[in-house]
Amino acid sequence: MKWLLAVLLAGQAQGKGIRVRTSRTLALEKAQGNPLLEEAALPPLTAVSAQDVRSAMETKLAAAGTALKTLEDTLAAALKKGTNVTYDQLGPKLEDIYELYGRPWSMFSHLRSVRDSPELRGVEKELRPKVVAFGQVLSQSQTLYRALVQLNTSTLTEAQRRVVEGELLGRQHSGVSLNETMAKVFNNVSKELTELSTEFSNNVVDARKRWNYTAFLKEEVAGLPARTVQSAAAAAKAAGFTNATAADGPWLLTLDPTVLGPVLLYAQNRSVREKIYRASAALASQEPFDNTAKVNRILELRQKMAGMLGYSDYLALSLASKMATKSALFKLLADVKAVARPAAEKDDLELKVFARSPEQRGQNPPLEELKQWDRAFYARNLEQSRYQFDGEKLREYFPYPAVLQGIFHLAQRLFNVTVKPVPEEQLKAARWEPSVEGYELTRGAASGFVLVDPYSRPSEKKGGAWMQPLVSRRLTAAGMRRPVAVVATNFPQPSSERPSLLSLREVSTLFHEFGHALQQVLTLQNESSISGVNGIEWDAVEVASQFMEYWAQLDRTTLFSFAKHFNTSEPLPEDLYKRVLESKNFRSGSSLLGQLYVTTVDLQLHQGYKIGEDPDAIAKGIAKDLLVDPPLPESHFLNSFSHIFAGGYAAGYYSYLWSRVVSADAFSAFDEPQVSWWWPLKMSGLSDEQHIKELGKRYADTVLAMGGGRNPSQVYTDFRGRSPTPDALLQYNGLKPALFGLAFSR
Ligand code: ZN
Repeated sequence: MKWLLAVLLAGQAQGKGIRVRTSRTLALEKAQGNPLLEEAALPPLTAVSAQDVRSAMETKLAAAGTALKTLEDTLAAALKKGTNVTYDQLGPKLEDIYELYGRPWSMFSHLRSVRDSPELRGVEKELRPKVVAFGQVLSQSQTLYRALVQLNTSTLTEAQRRVVEGELLGRQHSGVSLNETMAKVFNNVSKELTELSTEFSNNVVDARKRWNYTAFLKEEVAGLPARTVQSAAAAAKAAGFTNATAADGPWLLTLDPTVLGPVLLYAQNRSVREKIYRASAALASQEPFDNTAKVNRILELRQKMAGMLGYSDYLALSLASKMATKSALFKLLADVKAVARPAAEKDDLELKVFARSPEQRGQNPPLEELKQWDRAFYARNLEQSRYQFDGEKLREYFPYPAVLQGIFHLAQRLFNVTVKPVPEEQLKAARWEPSVEGYELTRGAASGFVLVDPYSRPSEKKGGAWMQPLVSRRLTAAGMRRPVAVVATNFPQPSSERPSLLSLREVSTLFHEFGHALQQVLTLQNESSISGVNGIEWDAVEVASQFMEYWAQLDRTTLFSFAKHFNTSEPLPEDLYKRVLESKNFRSGSSLLGQLYVTTVDLQLHQGYKIGEDPDAIAKGIAKDLLVDPPLPESHFLNSFSHIFAGGYAAGYYSYLWSRVVSADAFSAFDEPQVSWWWPLKMSGLSDEQHIKELGKRYADTVLAMGGGRNPSQVYTDFRGRSPTPDALLQYNGLKPALFGLAFSR
């Protein structure tokens, strides 16, 4: 996900300049000892200094500026003469420009995520405005736009056509086709929108910072995990309670997610839960950090912007560059609602009964009524009492090196991929950290590298997990450049006694990021702007990653290939496996309905919003219709919904649900029952190796190989033979019975 966000932010900066590209010209230039300017199969990132970054970027931005000027002059001359511009005069030249400054910038961004330092931060502050400014000049070039418009696309390959269409659409959405007067208005709207989203986001941060609650009584922190209690005491100390200790308090509770989450889940004290819940629901809805007016204005301006670009509303503008169509999307919402709503009602009833049960009364005050601040707490208690497994114990069956081998076995089994460790000689100049591993992956004509940075290093590495497309495949006169993907995670450091042991969630994360990496390195596209993960529509880019998660969770062969105790090598006990599987669908109706609610609100607000309408009332109206537990009157969740008001997800939040649907549908192709001539019952396809191999080949030839070079709906139909349906997602979440007998029941 982190990776997706990086691409989105890069896209917002316009001109797609932050993507990974190198250029033919690069190889011809003298590297002059600057590792960022060297052309090697694996970028030599071991010894890059802040000065290297500065000088590389200055050189390359200047070179890109010159190249743009030359290209514009050539195109302008051709347009003036009335001669047709060819793809070769335009496409590859444009890629050269992107790569000139995009390649060192991407290496630098990568280093900032894995080996940050005050020096690098300083360089970023200095350089980012220049990179953004050049990106704007590039995307708003009138000459380039006119040349793209007059290009005869009928003679192009499908991939080249996608490059041109992507360029045109991106430029149109930045207002380049408007007349001078309109362009002025458009630019003012854009500028105001950018300012508003910054202010929105600052208000959320400031409002969150302003609220806190000091707990003086031990009973107020009862039930909280030790790490939360410790950090709350440390926060109290920092706030002036110099004697604060974890054991005796006082404890400062804040709305930081690392505190808010644990309080709602674990705090036995109901009034503490209530305080923090109410504050969080009403975040950024009071002066001086009130976002209410900003939400209205943002929606108004987006609507105006869409109109100027010729769209009926902002939703139509968003969908113009997505895989989903409006009709498919609204049908999906209705289908999911029909199933998730009754399931959530059942969950709700169950939770109410549980919260009043004698067992719960013994530990907690009896409840008259289950309130919003009680739900997470009792849901967690119910889950514990039902499945009873210790997450920490489970880790012992998932040592990181074995899980990684499991992924390689799966890639071999499904896609016939050969995996070889990169020789030490080659790796040592590339790795930025001694624990970084390198692998060379090959499948027929597709081949590339995956660098893995597995362990957490809080002082210099970002949190979370991501895949960074460090180098993208590209064919030039100099030959084929092979792609490089970085998989970065924050797993626990290994010790002399034990390897890094992963939680079940971390196992899924590794499969997820490898799904992105496989799409990046097994591509067969030769233009870097559409090879690997580049140029794939947002709502389709999480499909290949989520698809891989299913193998870790639902395919026994895969899971049991690595789930062995790190010490005794004993396989994961069967009953533990069963409980883990069952717990996967705990309250799945409720969580799906929650996702559906947020998705619906985002879509409604961006579909024909009219000045003067009250967004909060629209959101509450949808809640009344959809949710089992409508929000509090003082709740204003839109005021802190940064995804759509300060991030890139406006009229695009549905992408999360959409890619869940498509990836589940893709996995179900493997799982669907196969009728065998010798066995009367239908068996899950997962037990038929021949079937898996054939389908795996088709998946790799389509989803993994095509990248952004073909429309994603077409790519998917090539693989599946039809469009995706939500049935598989609902079945895998236990919300719809599987009609296939044995296939879906494990
Ligand atoms: Zn992802």
